[in-house]
Amino acid sequence: MAKTLWPGKAMAVIKANAYGHGAVHCARALCNEADGFAVSSLEEAMQLRDAGIAQPILLLEGFFAEGELQCIAEQDLSLVVHAQWQVDVLLAATLPCALHVWLKMDSGMHRLGLLPKDYQHAYRQLSGHKNVASIVPMTHLANADNLDSDHSTQQVALFQASLAELGPCHSSSLANSAALLAWPQLQPMLHNQQHWSRPGIMLYGAHPILDARQLPVLEPVMQFSSRIIAVRHLEKGDAIGYGSLYKAEQAMRVGVVACGYADGYPRSAKTGTPIAVDGHMTQLLGRVSMDMLYVDLTAIPLADIHSHVELWGKQVSANSVAQSAGTIAYELFCNVKRAHFDYFDPANI
Ligand SMILES: *Cc1c(COP(=O)(O)O)cnc(C)c1O
Repeated sequence: MAKTLWPGKAMAVIKANAYGHGAVHCARALCNEADGFAVSSLEEAMQLRDAGIAQPILLLEGFFAEGELQCIAEQDLSLVVHAQWQVDVLLAATLPCALHVWLKMDSGMHRLGLLPKDYQHAYRQLSGHKNVASIVPMTHLANADNLDSDHSTQQVALFQASLAELGPCHSSSLANSAALLAWPQLQPMLHNQQHWSRPGIMLYGAHPILDARQLPVLEPVMQFSSRIIAVRHLEKGDAIGYGSLYKAEQAMRVGVVACGYADGYPRSAKTGTPIAVDGHMTQLLGRVSMDMLYVDLTAIPLADIHSHVELWGKQVSANSVAQSAGTIAYELFCNVKRAHFDYFDPANI
């Protein structure tokens, strides 16, 4: 991983099947770069262990039920503890070995975590207990992708104040992709060897921040592509597809592409969404069908049946499609049913 960018440790986030990229493939591709892998559930963790991934694996949502603790211990998984009930259950459990705990503070996102006022108490209960091998204090930012918001600064201040109360020198974990890429204020924390960053979307080459002009260029890992299976000639006034949503204003050449919302292309993408055909930029037309969509070939006379179509990848950024579809690249990636991947350098910044 880009150790020059942050010299601390990195827990590569490969939840949700590595954001649609294939968790086992990504873990193998990153195994020399990442210091561990973060997933959402025991099922995801087991998939990695079954594939022989031996690095630390962190369960970002901890355990959902007491019965999972045994397996967590046996598989040597690390776990987030985000609520007092989990602290209580963990301390009362009889386990074959002590667990690595990431104790989560809710510093302002109000999703998971103990409130700052309750944090100290939970930390003291856990520290030194026979079921607890180590504790990494962690928190998560709600607005790291919004460079105009001061919410992140407030969250970091709260977190650091609590860390200071816990005593000198221990590890911590805060930074997601947006924090790593866009928050120079966090550099002192990131440069602490004891800090665990948690990069996700950036590993897959999409920016968490849409207006990323000032930021490092990221190299996409996924190419979502298909082929043209039919070419249509429209006269002025002809409409194409369901709802006759798009009407030709002049004679046009249109390609029918074998890809639709069943494959993971967003149905909400509008006419004008960028698409590349044989390397030429053009646009989506009309409404996306279940297994097909339409692309304007008027200005690409050489494009024909079998022409290659990039829905997103190196030429068409996933963020540009996401913006046109009213969503984010994260969701596009997760929904993909089939795509091509380059694993040569997933953290190529
Ligand atoms: C998903 C997730 C991340 C990674 O976020 P990106 O924006 O993809 O970098 C980090 N931490 C937690 C707790 C997460 O849930």
